[in-house]
Amino acid sequence: MAATLFRKVWDLHSVRTLPNGQTQLYIGLHLVHEVTSPQAFADLRARGWRVRAPERTFATVDHIVPTLAQRRPFLDLVAEEMTAALERNCREHRIPLFGLDSGSQGIVHVIGPELGLTQPGMTIACGDSHTSTHGAFGALAFGIGTSQVRDVLASQCVAMSPLRVRRVDVRGRLAPGVYAKDVILTIIGRLGVKGGAGFAYEYGGEVVDRMSMDERMTLCNMSIEGGARAGYVNPDATTIDSLRGRPYAPSRDEFDEAARWWRTMASDPGAPYDDVVTIDGTAIAPTVTWGINPGQSVPVDGRVPDPMAATGAERDGVAEALAFMSFDPDQPIAGTRIDVAFIGSCTNARLSDLREAARIVSGHRVARHVRALVVPGSQAVCTAAEREGLDEIFRQAGFEWRAAGCSMCLAMNSDRLDGREICASSSNRNFKGRQGSPTGRTLLMSPAMVAAAAVAGEVVDVRAWLPAAPAGVERRL
Ligand code: SF4
Repeated sequence: MAATLFRKVWDLHSVRTLPNGQTQLYIGLHLVHEVTSPQAFADLRARGWRVRAPERTFATVDHIVPTLAQRRPFLDLVAEEMTAALERNCREHRIPLFGLDSGSQGIVHVIGPELGLTQPGMTIACGDSHTSTHGAFGALAFGIGTSQVRDVLASQCVAMSPLRVRRVDVRGRLAPGVYAKDVILTIIGRLGVKGGAGFAYEYGGEVVDRMSMDERMTLCNMSIEGGARAGYVNPDATTIDSLRGRPYAPSRDEFDEAARWWRTMASDPGAPYDDVVTIDGTAIAPTVTWGINPGQSVPVDGRVPDPMAATGAERDGVAEALAFMSFDPDQPIAGTRIDVAFIGSCTNARLSDLREAARIVSGHRVARHVRALVVPGSQAVCTAAEREGLDEIFRQAGFEWRAAGCSMCLAMNSDRLDGREICASSSNRNFKGRQGSPTGRTLLMSPAMVAAAAVAGEVVDVRAWLPAAPAGVERRL
């Protein structure tokens, strides 16, 4: 019988149905970081338990590490303590740790795919909401809480309820200056931040088929912002090519056999979906959030809403967001003055993101009143970018070039907004207080849009900033 990837991977990893109706699901890969693991390891120790499958568990430091002065001990005592605790726990349980001196450290959702740990057909868990990123490879990847981190450490299993599957078909082709970030903001804007509750999103259609793995990761990363528990793309030739030669991918002898199996995990033609949504990719414009959740967005040439045009509870939500952001009803989003430009996070700090942003800023200067920083998603991204001279392009334009980490995505280190600052950000959440100041304001957009805003000092349409591509060369990230 035709089945979706979700159904195939779920069934393959299902251990048993629990008395409460949930499934005990085996986890093929557990990714661990310094912030959500200390309590889980402490619980394990208190019960005298060991890590069940250290060979399926990998750790890194990303959330709280400084991106400026990385000499140990860190000046921030909490960061030092959390990092030291993870090092102790990894040593005690023989878990590989990609620390600051490894050359492979970085945001957990950047390094997993980079190292080839993330593979099609897997179940993946991590104590971070944006674990859905790994679904780009045709895996079922779930963000879990600290008590579930303990469960997975102890049993390599997690208790979960099965999900329904919504196919999200993005048809047509994207125009130049329109990126995966614009696609996912458009999807969330249309389906709502709670629209995916109880669903896994399967992304497909011509736009997704043509996307690079970096773009697919951006798409899947923000599934959780649309309320979906997971998001994935069926594995195809792009997926398989991207895995070849990665350190933890199957070796050359075993690769072709693994690739054949990965392809069988893709949803079958005629597979049943619980819902199907079609999005016209040709109609998507560069998109910017105006509010306090990622569903509150408009095309860059659009206007923020007027609460009087909304109904019921929605009216209050719009009014609250506009008041927090200090927008007038029906105000154009373009021209909004920014104070900070942040290119980083597990959504948009991969090499192709930095390349595209550098293409925009090359030869320009960041506006005088803007503080701009680039934080690569991993040490490998940082090294590759430096090899290409991207760091110099950013520095010459007036950006700060930082070391890898989560940084201003959630501001657990000293990278944070001050007071009412407005930040053009390539990250994934615009919640109140997310970037470190309770009153700070976040405008989510693509890294190319952030780059253009940094130079212009205000929100602008990146389509007017694109350098002309050489004749016959198609844009492909
Ligand atoms: S970059 Fe932001 S969303 Fe991604 S793992 Fe770090 S804190 Fe979480």
